[in-house]
Amino acid sequence: MKIVTAAAEIQQLAQKLRSDGYRIGLVPTMGWFHEGHLSLMRTAKMKADKVIVTLFVNPMQFAEGEDLDSYPHDLERDRGLAEKEGVDLLFAPLAADMYGQGFKTSVHVAGLTEGLCGGDRPGHFDGVSTVVSKLFNLTLPHLAVFGEKDFQQLAVIRQMVKDLDFPIEIIGHPIVREANGLAMSSRNSYLREEEITAALSLSKSIGHARSLVAADPAVSVAHIITAVKELIHRHRECSVDYVEIVDRLSLAPCSSITADSVLVLAVKINQRVRLLDNSLLTVQ
Ligand code: AMP
Repeated sequence: MKIVTAAAEIQQLAQKLRSDGYRIGLVPTMGWFHEGHLSLMRTAKMKADKVIVTLFVNPMQFAEGEDLDSYPHDLERDRGLAEKEGVDLLFAPLAADMYGQGFKTSVHVAGLTEGLCGGDRPGHFDGVSTVVSKLFNLTLPHLAVFGEKDFQQLAVIRQMVKDLDFPIEIIGHPIVREANGLAMSSRNSYLREEEITAALSLSKSIGHARSLVAADPAVSVAHIITAVKELIHRHRECSVDYVEIVDRLSLAPCSSITADSVLVLAVKINQRVRLLDNSLLTVQ
């Protein structure tokens, strides 16, 4: 596996792969790999001939006071893990190379970015859409794999790819969880031992919401949201950023539960660690 840091070099390598007839699969990440990232890499490996993984903690998607500087980082560790998965190219650029002096462009996907995480983190998705557009242009993939853990991000990327005619197949990958149900995340490394029980209230409350729907498919949206918040607030470490039930594609709030209703949660643990989780509410 080759590590590339220069933007111009990865683009040349991608162009060569394309002209040699290879199908390129891309997995964009911010590093500190866990089983979730590795599963995305395996999916890319299955569906493409060559896999490019990008590792870039994108300053443009972090606001002042967020965890840009403390985000876990160990290139050697991640290099070993990606190599084991048979990744062909690991692109780990410097911010200065991605955003040169005089950089002026921002990609904005309207509507889908206003609520949920977009409400709590204004500008976040412009940073995501802009860097993903750049990564698409630098790595020239035929397909790209994104996790459903970042549910809104996946919807935003799908919309952007459709609107801007990127000739790229977007593949969503189901959430990979720890044995205890916790959705894997690089940010789980911020959790202290005594905060794990509180963190588990996200997946537990999702399980409870699904059982409410299974018992009564006509249960109201308001009832589920109240029950979920109640379970989460039993842990004094937890503060809810949002608990909503939205349509899987439009992200519009659901007025009743349908096969496309997704429960989406963002919860802070001790005001320090912001965790996301989501799930469809009906058994598919
Ligand atoms: P990140 O490094 O957190 O930006 O994540 C890189 C990619 O991995 C994104 O597409 C995430 O949605 C995906 N991802 C992160 N955690 C998980 C998980 N637990 N299960 C599935 N995909 C994940």
